[in-house]
Amino acid sequence: MSAAHFFTNSSCSLKSNQMRWLGRRESSNVDDRRGLSGGGIAAGGGVLGVIIYVLYSLFSGNSIDPSQIPINPQAEQRALTPEEQAADDERAKFVKVVLAETEDVWNKVFAESGSDYTEPTLVLFRDAVASGCGNASAQSGPFYCPEDSKLYIDLSFQQELQERLNSPGDFAMAYVIAHEVGHHIQRLNGTAEKIGRLRQQLDETEFNRYSVMMELQADFLAGVWAHNEQKMKDILDPGDIEEALNAANAIGDDRLQRQSTGTVMPDAFTHGTSAQRVYWFKKGYETGDIKQGDTFNDPSLN
Ligand SMILES: [Zn+2]
Repeated sequence: MSAAHFFTNSSCSLKSNQMRWLGRRESSNVDDRRGLSGGGIAAGGGVLGVIIYVLYSLFSGNSIDPSQIPINPQAEQRALTPEEQAADDERAKFVKVVLAETEDVWNKVFAESGSDYTEPTLVLFRDAVASGCGNASAQSGPFYCPEDSKLYIDLSFQQELQERLNSPGDFAMAYVIAHEVGHHIQRLNGTAEKIGRLRQQLDETEFNRYSVMMELQADFLAGVWAHNEQKMKDILDPGDIEEALNAANAIGDDRLQRQSTGTVMPDAFTHGTSAQRVYWFKKGYETGDIKQGDTFNDPSLN
């Protein structure tokens, strides 16, 4: 049986691994708004909502139309039990540690190339949040807003990953955070702005190709982070990388489309196939070389 829980299980082998992460430095670039939005958790959630929303937030030169955001009308609000609250707090600690680890790595990588890394802020929310890119709900999933340089995460997404997407393990969540931080790097180096301009010029199908390149590059950057994390701190184990690859595989457009509609429509891909997501994360992890991540000029994507 595979390990199925992040922090609440008592019997699986992941636990000792989690201990290597918990207790490490937590980032101070965190805006914890979990207590501000009603204190309940939303049941359910839509993965396609995640995909759609992230796209809007990534490329919008203007703010998001909240009506575009899929809201699950069946979502039930309820207060967290003390146990759920404790589990949520553990998850919060974990993502703060992961964010701190990305800061250490990207500060070093940027310094080595003679530039400064501006650290992003992580906003933790529950149910709903107002961002510089518009309003978002938990169903939106984790996203990065280039307008305010913040990552937004409702920690219930971790449950979504493990239960609906069958991607358990703490490092699956670390990959998600590192992917969003990848979008922050695309903002810092000007890529996000360039692609945002194309959005105004191209039709949807044509633009979707650029969206895929953008998303696969964020996966690549997550892999580069994992490579450097291992080099600098030696705290990953083979199971961690497997968890990240498993998550990358689970959130490929083809797989999500097949799950939700039974068919696959490549023109509607915005994030890349499972195989592509796995390929680019792996490439980043194996090379650790930021120069190898030019998805925009890769023959396989053109
Ligand atoms: Zn993304």
